[in-house]
Amino acid sequence: MVERQRSRREFQFMRRIDLRRTHTAHLSHVRDINRRIVLNYVRDKGPISRAEIARQTSLQRSTISDIVDSLLAEALVEEIGMGQSTGGRCPTLLKLNTTGAAALGIDIAPTRTTIATSNLAGCVLEREEFDTDPDFEKTITRATDVACKLLARSTGRIDGIGVSLPGLVDPSTGRILYIPYFNWSDLDVGQRIASATGIEVTIDNDANAAALAELWFGQPEVSEACDFIMVFIAEGVGSGIIFDRQIYRGRDGAGGEFGHMIIGERAPVPCSCGSFNCWEAFASGRAATARYLELKGGADGTQEMSFAQIIDLALAGDEAAKAALNETARYLGIGISNLINGFSPDIIVVGGAITRAWSLVSSKLSETVERSLRRNLQPVRIVASTIGDQASLMGALSLVLAKRFGSAAPI
Ligand SMILES: [Zn+2]
Repeated sequence: MVERQRSRREFQFMRRIDLRRTHTAHLSHVRDINRRIVLNYVRDKGPISRAEIARQTSLQRSTISDIVDSLLAEALVEEIGMGQSTGGRCPTLLKLNTTGAAALGIDIAPTRTTIATSNLAGCVLEREEFDTDPDFEKTITRATDVACKLLARSTGRIDGIGVSLPGLVDPSTGRILYIPYFNWSDLDVGQRIASATGIEVTIDNDANAAALAELWFGQPEVSEACDFIMVFIAEGVGSGIIFDRQIYRGRDGAGGEFGHMIIGERAPVPCSCGSFNCWEAFASGRAATARYLELKGGADGTQEMSFAQIIDLALAGDEAAKAALNETARYLGIGISNLINGFSPDIIVVGGAITRAWSLVSSKLSETVERSLRRNLQPVRIVASTIGDQASLMGALSLVLAKRFGSAAPI
């Protein structure tokens, strides 16, 4: 891994300078980057002293003291006790200030909508949920009502709201482009929530948001990877690409839509786009549900059972549910093999409802991937998200928290 990171850093020097972006070298930008470096040292390595940050970075001690003073004034970090002396005066240690709420997330999923507050470390403080109504007005009105209630009774300073949505959105304008589950199109969701709450809103699709949550709050082998792909299996199939430690969005934010890659013909259910050839139509929770009903002799009523119920049955030992999940895992493996062959990422992380059934699906998944990969390639690890089926909610919160910690430019 160390070797891999070193070679990546060497390759970064080959990045062609974009002359349209040279204003980023402005002094205030350098100060901002230094500020984020110090904040991230406190986040990842705290409790830590000013002297230790100076020792581990190339920043001057006086620069660090100035930055820490401003972080203390903004209540982003706090001082706790004294560390071990290395000869002189005992140093004061710094840690992230996790008192009170720092972010509010709204996760609008196909079946449930969840609203939650979290502290700066991403720990959920309060949450409320309700069934998502296919009527946009009803869902958004209820979501903003709950958000206003949680904001009113939260302590701390929430300066951003993150919204995760199950479809195509434009994060730069805050608009929904198209949500296939409900046929929502061209809706200004960001502005609606911002005007109801008076707080800045950031939106993204659920898979990108979930990938961001993995980057910031996932297990170390994922959060420390340079490039990974998050495959999000719930009622549908989503995927988010982290490339060079940031979300890869593609033109108009439409990148990463691997759910529509062509896998075969005559899938058990139509994809959310209507096609029977897409990966989503073969590997989603809806596909698993349809397979189960087919095995039980009632193939026409996929709405009668949820993916969660199929997983419950399989975990309880139901043979038809286990067979349906197994076949779904095979198609999941075929799609993941294509992603590995095309991207060669450091790791693949699978999130969403399917992680609850990981013990039942992981061997079929690995077996399919191993068979499909070119033999001279290093095997790519495929792991279940440790964020579990809360991935899109954590993603919504990460849209706010990543702005506090992240950098717009490569460091
Ligand atoms: Zn499709």
